[in-house]
Amino acid sequence: MIKLTPLLLMLLYGLAMYRFSAWKTARDLDARSSELADPRLRRLLDRMAAALDLERIRVFIYEVAPINGLAAPDGRIFITRGFYERYRAGEVSDEEIASVIAHEMGHVALGHSRRRMIDFSGQNAMRVALAGMINRFLPGIGPLIAGALTSLLAARLSRQDEFEADAYASALLVKSGIGTGPQKSLFAKLEKLTGGLGAGTPAWLMSHPKSDVRIAAIEAREARWNTPRIDK
Ligand SMILES: [Zn+2]
Repeated sequence: MIKLTPLLLMLLYGLAMYRFSAWKTARDLDARSSELADPRLRRLLDRMAAALDLERIRVFIYEVAPINGLAAPDGRIFITRGFYERYRAGEVSDEEIASVIAHEMGHVALGHSRRRMIDFSGQNAMRVALAGMINRFLPGIGPLIAGALTSLLAARLSRQDEFEADAYASALLVKSGIGTGPQKSLFAKLEKLTGGLGAGTPAWLMSHPKSDVRIAAIEAREARWNTPRIDK
């Protein structure tokens, strides 16, 4: 028991840090957001709601500049102010914004935002807890190994989640009569909109799979869906 105590303390510390950062993120989202009321978008959102047999899809604006969509662990969906401004300026179409909302709805529906404990706020906590544990066996290099392991795991998980959310969005967009076109055209624009993959690239984009790989995955699905089935 005595031997286990430091390990247990590390775990508890990691958990506490995770809870704290998750709470801080939720509080920041509450303080800096408001519900989106845009009649043009509402028309498309209502079509997606009808396809899902939902009464209404609520979307919030998060008052930050980087271009992003976000699904909070409580299921709320956010579009950043930066993204919305690009839409207002005509650089992003109604259907393209709808495709982002469909993608975020995929994260919520598939349980990613809740299940994935290793999100942008939890990663750090896991790194600290792991570093403490590994350091007991390999003094000195614990933090290094923990950092590498955490990044690897997070990148793998987030990549897989992105493809799954894209697939959900494709299905929803097709069922709503919007189609997958805007999903693909937005991916094609994404790097230009966010200023390319230079030094100032936001972290969330780095963890996302490359746009052309995502477009190829959508096209592979379209080919599957469009192949006529022969019933025997
Ligand atoms: Zn995503």
